[in-house]
Amino acid sequence: MDSPNEARHLDAVIVGAGFSGIYMLHKLRNELALSVRVIEKAGGVGGTWYRNTYPGALSDSAGHIYCYSFDDGLLQDWDWKMRYSDQSSLLAYLEHVVDRHRLASDIQLNTAVVSARFDEDRTEWEVRCDSGEILFARFLITGVGTFQAPVFPDIPGLQAFEAAYHTSDWPSGLDLTGKRVAVVGTGSSGTQVITAAASVADQLTVFQRTPQYCVPSGNRVLTAGERDEIKRDYGKVWDETYGSKTGFGHVEATVSAMSVSPAERERVFEEAWRRGGGFNFMFGTFDDIIDNAAANAAAAAFIRGKIWQIVRDEETARKLTPTQPYAHRPVCDAGYYATFNRPNVSLVDIKDNPITEVVPAGVRTADGVLHELDVLVFATGFDAFSGSYERIDIRGRDGKSLAEHWSAGISSYLGLAMAGFPNLFMLHGPYAAFSNGAPLISTQVEWVGDFVGAMRDRGLSSAEATPEAEQQWIDTCNSLVEGSIILDVDSWIVGANVPGRPRRVLYFLSGLGAYRERLTQVAAADYAGFQLTTSPPAGSPSSAPQEFAESGN
Ligand code: NAP
Repeated sequence: MDSPNEARHLDAVIVGAGFSGIYMLHKLRNELALSVRVIEKAGGVGGTWYRNTYPGALSDSAGHIYCYSFDDGLLQDWDWKMRYSDQSSLLAYLEHVVDRHRLASDIQLNTAVVSARFDEDRTEWEVRCDSGEILFARFLITGVGTFQAPVFPDIPGLQAFEAAYHTSDWPSGLDLTGKRVAVVGTGSSGTQVITAAASVADQLTVFQRTPQYCVPSGNRVLTAGERDEIKRDYGKVWDETYGSKTGFGHVEATVSAMSVSPAERERVFEEAWRRGGGFNFMFGTFDDIIDNAAANAAAAAFIRGKIWQIVRDEETARKLTPTQPYAHRPVCDAGYYATFNRPNVSLVDIKDNPITEVVPAGVRTADGVLHELDVLVFATGFDAFSGSYERIDIRGRDGKSLAEHWSAGISSYLGLAMAGFPNLFMLHGPYAAFSNGAPLISTQVEWVGDFVGAMRDRGLSSAEATPEAEQQWIDTCNSLVEGSIILDVDSWIVGANVPGRPRRVLYFLSGLGAYRERLTQVAAADYAGFQLTTSPPAGSPSSAPQEFAESGN
């Protein structure tokens, strides 16, 4: 490894060693033999699954597809024991992939990228790290994740309470057993940590701002027969996943909710409730739950009915009952509503009774009650997309910053590239398909890898989205959102969780299958929408772009 301050020339720098960065490294270094370094801020690989170690942390996608599809041997060797994988098994999986493909030597941990500047003369990115190192690379690939920048409520005295933690920064070894715990926030993270903490905490107080629609996750041990069947049919499993809309592994509905009788709707919802899975409930029951107000109202009414069946105390049931449409990112749980029947769990509706201050002993609400606490958990979410990118000063052509490029609104071409930022590819970036993260990431990594390989083979030095292609893609994405009930509900999906963010949906809503088709078409049309530049001939001035380097591996 180079010493700090020593510049090093590489083919690619990848930011982040999560799901995206790990596979991108494998693709570029092991398959294309390029020289690559991954820079990771954390002390280990795994990204989201390294950081989010709060009790109950679980992926809500079928485990056997919340993984990479590229390694047939690993698909056969690895056993996904549960329907859904928890944080520790996902972290173990990602660490295993790193070992199996000998990736660790090119992953630099405990290092943050602070800036990246495109050098137009050299057609290279100059990447500066907080260690003082400077790396030069033809390609800059960001795998920084969507949920990097935690959001904390603006509550007076917040600093006064020592044992306050965000779910995404859970301290190693923190055990809630026997403690007086409070959780603020009832999204995916909140419902998970609440359900897990309730059974061990002495006392659990939930500070809820907006009630949540939750359906059971249906998590369970997979039988040996089910595991064998998956392994036997993996080719088909991936074809179906990659061809689907959400990539969550359930059969997607093709029938609209109001086209069937009320009794049939009830039967379909009940069956989905028993089977479990949030995406399954929203997209596997009827095909118009987020597009049709009546369909949405029917799904919402079904879940509300379940809340009143499950929760014994009427006042608690009333507080837990959502009134907004059912259009948050779907959430599923391991007994969330039943948790509120426990004698050690209480619910505070902070819309009616806001938190007024945090003091060293706990949290005070507007009614004057001091909720004495040992641990205060913020499950208050993230500044999605923007927050991840604002942490790095990225400057493209003419020194224009990404912040400037996005000042009128975040944008991208295909969720991958931007005009003015040559040879920069974003993985899991804004305006990619709204779908399960793992198959989306594999889709993008393989496409970017093929593009980079084609550029090398053809002697191309840079690829840059055209402004027209970027604008058209955003227009397409925006037109797909029109009329969606997603827009009617405040959540991170529309940017409503961070004051000052414009209301927008940063996704391509036609689904993963359609997204893949689009990527295939773009590649087949000689990377339509990208301006491709050829390297100057040999013998050109020393400012000429770097040749592709051979990997040291
Ligand atoms: P989230 O969905 O944004 O939920 C944040 C929660 O905190 C909401 O209940 C929100 O209430 C509340 N909140 C925010 N600011 C608040 C404030 N100032 N005062 C009081 N309450 C406040 O965040 P998340 O639960 O961390 O999930 C984010 C995303 O991460 C998920 O949607 C999902 O994509 C991913 N994730 C996935 C899983 C999984 O199961 N696979 C698990 C965890 C996270 P309001 O609704 O009123 O804003």
